[in-house]
Amino acid sequence: MTEIVTTSGHRALQIEQPLIFELDTSGSTAVDLPAAPKVRTRLGQLRSDKPIGLPGLSEPEVVRHYTRLSQKNYSIDTGFYPLGSCTMKHNPRLNEKMARLPGFADIHPYQPQSTAQGAYELIDTLAHWLKTLTGMPAVAMSPAAGAHGELCGLMCIRSAHEANGQGARKLVLVPESAHGTNPATAALCGYRVEAIPANAGGRVDIAALKAKLGPDVAAVMITNPNTCGLFETECIEIAQAVHAAGAYFYMDGANFNALVGRVRIADLGVDAMHINLHKTFSTPHGGGGPGAGPTVLSAALAAFVPVPFVVKGVDGFSVEEHAGVGAAKQSLGRMKGFQGQFGVFVRALSYILAMGVDGLKTASGDAVLNANYLRTELSAELHPAFDGICMHEVVFDDSFLKNTGVSTLDIAKALIDEGFHPMTMYFPLVVHGALLMEPTETESKATLDQFIASLLALARKAKQGDQAEWFKGAPRLAPRRRLDETQAARKPVLRWRKPEVGAVVAKQAAE
Ligand SMILES: *Cc1c(COP(=O)(O)O)cnc(C)c1O
Repeated sequence: MTEIVTTSGHRALQIEQPLIFELDTSGSTAVDLPAAPKVRTRLGQLRSDKPIGLPGLSEPEVVRHYTRLSQKNYSIDTGFYPLGSCTMKHNPRLNEKMARLPGFADIHPYQPQSTAQGAYELIDTLAHWLKTLTGMPAVAMSPAAGAHGELCGLMCIRSAHEANGQGARKLVLVPESAHGTNPATAALCGYRVEAIPANAGGRVDIAALKAKLGPDVAAVMITNPNTCGLFETECIEIAQAVHAAGAYFYMDGANFNALVGRVRIADLGVDAMHINLHKTFSTPHGGGGPGAGPTVLSAALAAFVPVPFVVKGVDGFSVEEHAGVGAAKQSLGRMKGFQGQFGVFVRALSYILAMGVDGLKTASGDAVLNANYLRTELSAELHPAFDGICMHEVVFDDSFLKNTGVSTLDIAKALIDEGFHPMTMYFPLVVHGALLMEPTETESKATLDQFIASLLALARKAKQGDQAEWFKGAPRLAPRRRLDETQAARKPVLRWRKPEVGAVVAKQAAE
């Protein structure tokens, strides 16, 4: 195919955008500051005698720069985002409106407790919902994300073992299909990690798990539904075996979107589980946060909950700040500056109250229905990695690409040309060339049908041998083409260096 080029390097109305430092040409400024008063510097040798290198740009240049960059973002607000293990769903605007109410947006965690009673009540109400939806007696609200919640849960487990004279338990068992944060958390918490293999059906191999249980095991971390999109049907038996061995059962709750309103986590024998509010309860995420990872705890772990936490008393709400005293007597200490990610709490509670119990139950049902719709329709050309019904996400292996010369990566890149964010690729690791998709409940049948039609068409093209045109050069139409991943890995450029020409310092030095 002939390459389409333009004289400017821009593509249609997509404007090529260099770094802001490279835009510095005019020597102008968007702000007009009065001259600095002459003061004697006390910086001594540390005083810089060079300009700091800020680019000189006028206000419209700055506005255009950032607006153009923002237009390069693909997001859940611009299109379908079938990324698995992430729950990228629509964020109702009502949540944003609530989070921007001045009474919520303009408060400070240091203001007198008597003036923030409404905020504490909101935290307490959300905690009540999370406990009710999971059937668990306690919840630590302060963790800032899923991974932080995992750390909170494992620190509670470690504290409980130490309190019971079981501090010598140093091993955590994690299935090989687990999200990377699970083994990372266990290691950060000082544990040794061993992998539990999956059985042919994509679930935890319970015999292999039982064989590893012993007096050295502190906890078992299991994701349910797991990252293959399958419900761990033997979860209760696993919990019983784990408890009989004197260990605790941590459940990774990132996939709670599939269970809300249908499964009471407590009934599965769980001791601790984080809830990614930014996944299950709709908060914009994907750009690094903020998120929130409240962690529900069983009665055995509740006493170790980190400070600070909100308590309800006869004269209103207060905050337990110090470990070792009062209600925080056995608290493991502080994991985060304040009571948690308040803005995310407002969004999550707003979502929960707008949905109601019946709405939440419908949402989890629709999430599973949508994933199974993808599974059955895409099975016309793709190959599901596991038999039977899936939960909220579905994983295909790359066997449908055998002998085509096309890889999972090529399919993902070609999808970009078709106007879809790629699915999760090559994860979970237990599935060869995995394509993991989670449509979520918020996508319509029409959107799913468009996605299905594109993906089926690409699969057919791959099988017909159209590699070069459709796949190897993809994305062909995006502002950025395919990266040289080998070069990027071998010779990463990690630091921006000032170009020779047009550099602010060189210019000022010349003047
Ligand atoms: C997203 C996710 C996590 C980590 O959550 P963060 O909020 O990104 O820290 C852990 N486990 C699973 C299965 C996940 O999908």
